[in-house]
Amino acid sequence: MEEKVSPDAGSAALTARIGRFFGESERAVAFTGAGISTESGIADFRSPGGVWSRYQPVLFQDFLASAAARRRYWQMKKEGYRELRSAKPNAGHRALARLESAGRLQAVITQNIDGLHQDAGSSRVLELHGTSRHCVCLGCDARYDPDLIQERLEAGVEIPLCDRCGAFLKSATISFGQALPATVLREAIDLCTGADLVLALGSSLVVEPAASLPLQAKQSGARLVIINRTETPLDDIADVVLRESIGESLTRVLGHLGLDLAS
Ligand SMILES: [Zn+2]
Repeated sequence: MEEKVSPDAGSAALTARIGRFFGESERAVAFTGAGISTESGIADFRSPGGVWSRYQPVLFQDFLASAAARRRYWQMKKEGYRELRSAKPNAGHRALARLESAGRLQAVITQNIDGLHQDAGSSRVLELHGTSRHCVCLGCDARYDPDLIQERLEAGVEIPLCDRCGAFLKSATISFGQALPATVLREAIDLCTGADLVLALGSSLVVEPAASLPLQAKQSGARLVIINRTETPLDDIADVVLRESIGESLTRVLGHLGLDLAS
């Protein structure tokens, strides 16, 4: 058992230690939450003032059952779309893409729906909560470009319907009350239980499966690194806890590995 490094130890020492973990790791995985995208200007839906805080999330059952709920759902999507659409990946996203291309990271498992990991160049991204990068028809599974749906919403359509079959369209994100994609979840569990290093980044690790994936990894023998602005329930079992910017921390970790963001 190695000695514990607490958050008050110098952050340079902590990022050096994360660098050493990567040096000793063969199966590293990153797990990301909203905190990595707040550095790109996307408000955490739980944070006050963001567009999401003004709306009660629409449950999937209500979306199916009630026209009022569908109207509310699309009103919320319409208002949040610009912020999502204009967001660019930040140093944290780019550092993870760099780690993957250097063969240091197997995959990113994310709770985010913004597509910024892919924009940054990550190729293996497991999206537990789906993606805002397309819309789907709930009747025939046809896919729609969300730009097109946004145009319709802005032109006054309140509840967009499928051109082919007339059924309801919905963003390809997972709503409350909607099952997580089973194959993606299975793959995420396999990655975490097989990992030797897990970085939990920008997640409060409270909502499932965010809480249990890094825990399962740790219980299966992985080292656990947590970078998050606030405390998490897993801080006590983590090997390193950092309360700093994900982008700055990971850029320093890259430096310890002789990598940089541009290369
Ligand atoms: Zn359809």
